[in-house]
Amino acid sequence: MKKRWAILRWACTAGLALAIAAYAFSAFYTAWVTWNPPYRRITLRSGGVGLSWEGAGWFGTCRTEVLSGRAGPFRWWFDIGGAGSTYRAHIPLWCPTLLFATPAVLLWRSYLRARRVTNPCPKCNYPLTGLAPGSPCPECGKRG
Ligand SMILES: [Zn+2]
Repeated sequence: MKKRWAILRWACTAGLALAIAAYAFSAFYTAWVTWNPPYRRITLRSGGVGLSWEGAGWFGTCRTEVLSGRAGPFRWWFDIGGAGSTYRAHIPLWCPTLLFATPAVLLWRSYLRARRVTNPCPKCNYPLTGLAPGSPCPECGKRG
């Protein structure tokens, strides 16, 4: 099970790095993927992910574009709206950043805590837990 936790720890770390990179990107650039028809668009801009949805049905042809230059002011909060069959939403990127950061921090902390040797020998770092106080280190022979 140790390996599974290591995979999860690194996955959360990678997700966090990706979210921060996307956050930084969206402050200076705009990138989007559009499916036509019907109209669906996922936009990365202004510190968030924008979703636009119009009409019924599934995805058609896909188009990707990256534009330089800020699309608008930095938006910190959610913005959900739309009318009828049209739908749009802006999800701030600190949301996924926090979503990955929380488990990443917890997993790294527990990993580093488990790795730390309790009551180590001052000379060779061998754990002396369970030995009588003052008894010699079984590894290097130094008296504690
Ligand atoms: Zn020792």
